Amino acid sequence: MSEDAGTPLESRLTEQEYFRPPAEFVGQANATDPDIYDRFEENYPEAFEEYAELLEWDEHWDEVLDDSNPPFYEWFSGGQLNASYNCIDRHLDERKNQAAFIWEGTDKDERETITYQDLYNRVNETAAALQDVGVEEDDVVTCHLPMLPALPITMLACARIGAPHSEVFAGFSAQALADRIDDAESDVVVTCDGYYRRGEFLNHKEKCDEALELADSDVDTVLLWSRHDELHEDVSVDSDDPYVLVDDLLADNERARVDPVSRDAEDPLFLMYTSGTTGKPKGCQHRTGGYLSYVTATSKYVLDIKPEDTYWCAADIGWITGHSYIVYGPLSLGTTSVMYEDTPDHPHKGRIWEIAERYDVDIFHTSPTAVRMFMKWGAEYVEDYDFDFRHMTTVGEPIQPEAWLWYYKHIGDEDAVIVDTWWQTETGGHLITNLPALKDMKPGSAGFPCPGIQPALYDDSGEPMEPASGKAGNLVIEKPWPGMLQTVYGDDERFIEEYWRDFSDTDSSASEDWVYKAGDGAVHERDGYFRVLGRLDDVMNVAGHRLGTMELESAVSEVEYVAEAAVAARDHDEKGEVPDVYVVVREGIDASQEEVHDRIIEAVEDEIGKFARPARVVFVEDLPKTRSGKIMRRLLENISNGDELGDTTTLRDPSVPEEIRDQVHGD
Ligand code: ATP
Ligand code: MG
Repeated sequence: MSEDAGTPLESRLTEQEYFRPPAEFVGQANATDPDIYDRFEENYPEAFEEYAELLEWDEHWDEVLDDSNPPFYEWFSGGQLNASYNCIDRHLDERKNQAAFIWEGTDKDERETITYQDLYNRVNETAAALQDVGVEEDDVVTCHLPMLPALPITMLACARIGAPHSEVFAGFSAQALADRIDDAESDVVVTCDGYYRRGEFLNHKEKCDEALELADSDVDTVLLWSRHDELHEDVSVDSDDPYVLVDDLLADNERARVDPVSRDAEDPLFLMYTSGTTGKPKGCQHRTGGYLSYVTATSKYVLDIKPEDTYWCAADIGWITGHSYIVYGPLSLGTTSVMYEDTPDHPHKGRIWEIAERYDVDIFHTSPTAVRMFMKWGAEYVEDYDFDFRHMTTVGEPIQPEAWLWYYKHIGDEDAVIVDTWWQTETGGHLITNLPALKDMKPGSAGFPCPGIQPALYDDSGEPMEPASGKAGNLVIEKPWPGMLQTVYGDDERFIEEYWRDFSDTDSSASEDWVYKAGDGAVHERDGYFRVLGRLDDVMNVAGHRLGTMELESAVSEVEYVAEAAVAARDHDEKGEVPDVYVVVREGIDASQEEVHDRIIEAVEDEIGKFARPARVVFVEDLPKTRSGKIMRRLLENISNGDELGDTTTLRDPSVPEEIRDQVHGD
């Protein structure tokens, strides 16, 4: 049984809703002026100039927000700047010999420190290499790179010459890569020979070979980085291939310097395709000026990053989290970031904490799915290591209060602040989360809107609901913000349809008629905290009660035998829907014990009510998850209802739902 069952902290879950940030944290925080919220509200949108002023501009902007053509808002129009200059060159005077990245390879003894001067040299040389193969300003370069230094270097080299990058998460398949190459019409693709997964070399070029076969567009050139000093022995390049070795180009360009081009604030910096949990992936197009201002400011005020910190966002750069909060925000602030190539359990389950200790990491950033995994492994893997986080983050999904508390206690040692950051690929940066010195933490709630952000809940007929009513509704953002996507690449119509049309009067162009539709459900609590329930299709209706699957899952997760739980709605003749609960138990727990089952049922009845009693509790080895670790409840719902599984191509392990289906329905 779990060793910490019944300790005071756990019982505080019911007694104590709020956790104060430690005085020591508050004393040193970047954002300590409570007026910031009012200042941004009263002085919208001009207050966002404070964010833009964190950057160096080649040309000052004429207007903060041009809203003459909604929903195609423009930020800092007339301004000019370069993102790679802001992330690298401007730091050289003060900190050229400070590490920008500390990269840790798969093997415990393989590591590399990249100073800002190194980064400057390598980005310049890579920018010259891109130019050598014909990349010009505004060409979209598709990258398919894993967590190697080559990835941020390539992104920044693209930014330097004004070529928007479109990074496709390395774990994505050849088909996913081909779809994105086609959608972006890229002539140039950047990949590498391979990388390591659980210590094994993975031939990554193979996926690109296959993608080139599958893609409709003709790719002229593929730049191939090598993971080691030379091409891996398992990987070869034929003379008639479109592949060009980056090593050769860099040798030709040793000590090359490429002037950063001045980009208009509104010129695109990159495309990021949504992960595709719903529908066909959309190329979210992000602008240069507004985006960089917004991620720099939120890195400073929400993540509390200072140049002298060692910061570690243990996400993959292939997701928006990595773009905004590994590459652009932290580098723009001139801090030191840790990057790690392999998985958290290689070669042992204490690997993350071992790295945190080695570099004395101050700020740690991860996802609820990772926290649940650490929790499932048990606290003993953490206890061997000596590290002291000042600040911790979660992102990507709602975090169950139980997991929050575990994170707070075992990872944060009860003296680190936690910010639960709600945002999306589309929003560029955090929208709902607390400024950590200014608001108390509340487990399970993202918290208050960021300065200048105006969220609201609308009911199903599109009517605004009473603020802070304690009821669930559709989350929208009523005013534009600098980090927002510009459009869906090449498809303005889809941009409008997908994100704006529902609640907007299309005959009118008055800006107040346009609200951004997040597609998530949320509760605006009476205390003003927003609690995000997850995507709207994760909200179920049991006998007329609207319930977030998150609420049920939280109740189940409070049972100390449970590591992870997902709830799926099963159709029911009388009640409309009933909840089926899929549960993974903690290591060492015997799931066949009746007590485990009964405690789960009890927890739901006690926390939520008898009406929400799970119709079925299914103990499983693993839950179906996307590659970024999100639970795909849709698949569980299909299983519960005996429907076809449908598309499983974005799953980390497609065999998981099949096994669950066989378990539930027999082979
Ligand atoms: P797709 O849009 O392709 O279906 P996705 O929405 O999962 O995929 P992301 O943009 O990476 O891709 O994730 C944003 C979503 O993640 C949000 O809309 C929300 O559902 C969820 N989310 C992110 N952060 C939080 C959070 N702190 N609390 C609750 N939910 C969150
Ligand atoms: Mg989404």
